Parts: sequence; structure tokens; C-alpha cells
Amino acid sequence: MESPDPDNPAPGDVGPPGPAGIGENICPRCNGTGEVDGEQCEYCNGHGKVMEGIAGA
Ligand SMILES: [Zn+2]
Repeated sequence: MESPDPDNPAPGDVGPPGPAGIGENICPRCNGTGEVDGEQCEYCNGHGKVMEGIAGA
């Protein structure tokens, strides 16, 4: 149990990013207003925010 195991690092040392890597961003199309030219922004559905961190989302 004393020998290092490079193929199996201890939890917390390395690993894929967790949910913390996902967050909301201001919609780049309407700048967070939820509207574009007086109409609901289709990019964010009028929320003014978009989810980031998920491919294709
Ligand atoms: Zn928008």
C-alpha cells in the first residue's frame, strides 16, 4: 500500500471537471436583455442567459 501507483492517482488529484465547470453566461445575441429588435431573443428564448460548458448546448 506504500508504493505509488501512477495508473491510479488518488481521487482529487486529477479528473474531469465537475458541474462547477457549467454555468450561465449572458446571451451574446441580446446582451442579456432577452430581446432583439423588440422581439424575444430566439437564442436564449428571452431569458437573456445561455448555458455554457455543455458541447452543443
Ligand atoms: Zn438572447
